[in-house]
Amino acid sequence: MSDNGWLPLEVAIFLPMLPVRSKHSIWLITLLGAGLAWAADAPPGPHPAIEYLERATIEMRTDPEASKRDADAALKLLGERPDVDLQVQAHLLLCDYFAERDTAAAEREIDAGTALLPNAHRKGLKAGLLDCRGQIFETAGNNAKARALYEQAVTVAAETHDDDMLAQSLFSRGYLLGLEGEYASGLSDLRRAETLYEKLRKPVHGLTVMNSIATLYNRMGDYGQAVTIYSRALKAQREAGMQREVAVTLHNLGRAYENLHEWDESRKSFAGSLAVSRQLAYPRGEAYALRGLAAVANASGDPKGALETLARAEVLQSQTPDARLRAQIQLARGIAYHKLDKLPESTAALEDALRVFRQADAMNELNATYSELAEVYAESGNWRAAYDRRTQAKETSDRLLNNQLDQRFATLKVEFDTTAKDKENALLIHENAINQQALAQAQSLRHLQGAVILLSVTLGLVLAMLAIHQRRHALRMKYLALTDELTHVPNRRSVLSRLDPLLRDPEQGTCAALIVDVDHFKKINDQFGHPTGDEVLKAVATTVRNLVAEPGFFGRLGGEEFLIVLPRMDLGGARRAAEQFREAIMAIDTSRWCSDHRRVTASLGCAVSNPGADTPSTMLKRADFALYAAKRNGRNCVETEPKLPADPTPGVDSLAAEA
Ligand code: GH3
Ligand code: MG
Ligand code: MG
Repeated sequence: MSDNGWLPLEVAIFLPMLPVRSKHSIWLITLLGAGLAWAADAPPGPHPAIEYLERATIEMRTDPEASKRDADAALKLLGERPDVDLQVQAHLLLCDYFAERDTAAAEREIDAGTALLPNAHRKGLKAGLLDCRGQIFETAGNNAKARALYEQAVTVAAETHDDDMLAQSLFSRGYLLGLEGEYASGLSDLRRAETLYEKLRKPVHGLTVMNSIATLYNRMGDYGQAVTIYSRALKAQREAGMQREVAVTLHNLGRAYENLHEWDESRKSFAGSLAVSRQLAYPRGEAYALRGLAAVANASGDPKGALETLARAEVLQSQTPDARLRAQIQLARGIAYHKLDKLPESTAALEDALRVFRQADAMNELNATYSELAEVYAESGNWRAAYDRRTQAKETSDRLLNNQLDQRFATLKVEFDTTAKDKENALLIHENAINQQALAQAQSLRHLQGAVILLSVTLGLVLAMLAIHQRRHALRMKYLALTDELTHVPNRRSVLSRLDPLLRDPEQGTCAALIVDVDHFKKINDQFGHPTGDEVLKAVATTVRNLVAEPGFFGRLGGEEFLIVLPRMDLGGARRAAEQFREAIMAIDTSRWCSDHRRVTASLGCAVSNPGADTPSTMLKRADFALYAAKRNGRNCVETEPKLPADPTPGVDSLAAEA
């Protein structure tokens, strides 16, 4: 299949056809379609037989022998790698080949297909087999048998929900019903087939059905309507390059004009059909067109020309078992002989035609043949036979007329129902489109809502992450702002900012401030380097931190000085605590940094607050004062402010002493 779902142009051009009707073409197109569909579905790649079947389908009307060869080749391949559906399709192709040539062989193909059917996936294929059997009977002129088979095909296709097969079975049955004068039922079937093809998006099939609808109108006596529809179909077929269908429609148009006695138009159409059929090397099409041209010659007073044309038609016709065509040739021949006063030849030809038309119950042709025969018998002096044929002509004509009248009403109803149904369908399609649109809108709205929700959630997450990041950043900044970079203990700002509220709170009572100053720190720097000095400062900070317990706190004031704050503490307690700090600092193991294992000592100055009166600055000043006193006292000792009575002064062996 081509991209747009229609048949590729090459296939459309070589659509198989019959001069009067193109039923076979529908089956063949379907088989081709089914083959291609199979190719699309099969998981391990297309079956090699498909290519043969596709080619055979196209060749059926261009080179039937090649078609048969390819169908046989496909069956051989299918023997190696069986695929029941494809096998049935191959038998259907062969049935189509033999239906026009060898009835027994065609029957054998049907039997082979029927035997495979129980294992076929596509159960609707049974309708194809029933239809092909129907074709055999119809071609042989046994319309009753053909009709019964088409009925079964319709039932099978409907039961298997095979729309394609149903459309085709309806097409076959509708055409035959029209042939038998049941125009309303025929039209109903054809309209249903047309609607199904529209639904299946098969415009090529639709056109073929349209042609048959026109043929039905032609038979019903509504030649004007037939001409209108044929002309419309012809235009579409020419635009689509469907040459074979063009030949069919031109022939049918010629017949409609023949019925209207518009001989010039009729001749033009038949001549056109003949030219296209010749171009396509299709003898049966040529035979039909020649029969038409002979009828025009008869009407134009050229019976000799008509006979010559019919002789050519007969040669071509003899290649097919088309009984109706043969009968039509005989009818035209009988008329020509009559005009030439060759009455026995005329009688023989007309009686010959009559046998076929009677069997087929083709009323139009029967009427024409009876009328002609009545005249010929009368001129021959055979009054008895003339009377009989005249009576039969009258009967047929009455039947035809009554039937045409009845059917005209019935077909009007069918057309009305079809139009009403079409309108209803159009309305439903319109409503459906609106619903679909609304659904699509609702869906896109839902998508939009989803997108908005997703976006909002994403935005929320991003904002939350940003907030978390910001908070972390703020905390980090705060930490950095309040932490000493070297020792990672609280810095001066931190410790003083905590001391300030403590001094302001009258509930807190007295609190102690201890300033720790490392003794002779400069010497450590000088002797071991600044980095060693840093390590010593870190060790002092760690030692102090380990000793300070809640609610006490401390921080590095700067350089080698630290401030320890001990809430709810009097001077005595402060001093005792300071001694502990001093001893702890002195216990620091310096061996890691200092080769002389020296001890680090510190001097401490303590002050206690005057609740409500002190500020950090005044307290620090007093503690500092005490610290100076400690330094003055030889370092590695504690001094208080105010001075406590018994203030021991250790520090004899401190760095200060060494200094
Ligand atoms: P004293 O016993 O009188 O307190 O003597 P000292 O040497 O400890 O006091 P001084 O004020 O003379 O010297 C303090 C030294 O501390 C000077 C400065 O270079 C050093 N110092 C200040 N901050 C740092 C620091 O962060 N790291 C190092 N390694 N040294 C520092
Ligand atoms: Mg100092
Ligand atoms: Mg110092």
